[in-house]
Amino acid sequence: MKAETMRVMWAERPNELEVRQVPMIEIEENEVLIEVAYVGICPWDVRAFSGLSSSVAFPRILGHEMAGIVRAVGKNVKIVKPGMRVVPDMGIKCGVCKACRSGRENRCQNPLFRQYGGGFADYVRVPEKNVHIIKNAKTKLQAAAFTEPLACVVRGQDILNLYPGEIQLVAGLGPIGLMHLQVAKAFGCRVIASDPIPERLVKAKELGTDWTVNPNETDVAEFVKDISDGWGVDAAVVTVGSARLVEQIIPMLAPGGRLNIFAGIYPKDQLHIDPNLIHYGEYVITGSADSTPINMDKALELIETGIVKTETLISHMLPLEELGKGFEIVNKRQGLKIMLDVNSNLE
Ligand SMILES: [Zn+2]
Ligand SMILES: [Zn+2]
Repeated sequence: MKAETMRVMWAERPNELEVRQVPMIEIEENEVLIEVAYVGICPWDVRAFSGLSSSVAFPRILGHEMAGIVRAVGKNVKIVKPGMRVVPDMGIKCGVCKACRSGRENRCQNPLFRQYGGGFADYVRVPEKNVHIIKNAKTKLQAAAFTEPLACVVRGQDILNLYPGEIQLVAGLGPIGLMHLQVAKAFGCRVIASDPIPERLVKAKELGTDWTVNPNETDVAEFVKDISDGWGVDAAVVTVGSARLVEQIIPMLAPGGRLNIFAGIYPKDQLHIDPNLIHYGEYVITGSADSTPINMDKALELIETGIVKTETLISHMLPLEELGKGFEIVNKRQGLKIMLDVNSNLE
């Protein structure tokens, strides 16, 4: 029996959050209704909620990292069936613009997501093409809820053109950095994991990094020289929004080194680097943002095969109504992934 109302975490204005009962979502012919089991809090959600993201209009229901169960499908939906365990991709793309037609759906020029709600709610709707079906019955929904952030990580590693045996530096070991290191290992890299928080270094070890380094205790540039016989790191990913950190890491690159500025940098800042480093070093300084449907599919596969461990990254599991508390924890940079238990009885 379909419920008549549902809970949502309603943000009327930036920094204003309340639990609301709203009428149950109606789906269109090509859409799927999904009951949310778990939804992760992304630092982007926190920034958007504070009103710091100009692209986010209010009122708004945020949340885009979830997994759940299909409850209803529109009459033109062909493959997805009620009862399926799924991950919805809340990045609703037009599919026809130049970005979408060149494999860069993440840069879609006409994103449609504003018409859709978010996952800090009992239910969401998405077009059928935005549904990723969980294949392995053993995959936990709370693990699958990491598909979207892992998809961004997959894209960020893809762009580094890695080769087995290369040394990669992962700077910043929040949930994102801890996923980067696992994907880098899966690509055959030897990984240096760097973070000033000791517990995060322990986690990185557990997840298979080759080396850990605490920049508060050790000169990272010297450390890199030591372990690479003066060669440098072949690749680096900066998961912390800091221009200073990018400046520090560029000179650690080996000839032909690639560096991904993975995190957006706010407030806006400038890089000051000697261009000759890039010229003579043949460095590739790049970035990556968001993900495409292909990245989502690969990410879910990495979770379902156990190649990337995600559940172990959950430090807090809060009920949906405590979203505000979750935002505070993220703001204070405590813990790792803050996940909301929306309807865990579905698991
Ligand atoms: Zn996210
Ligand atoms: Zn598009």
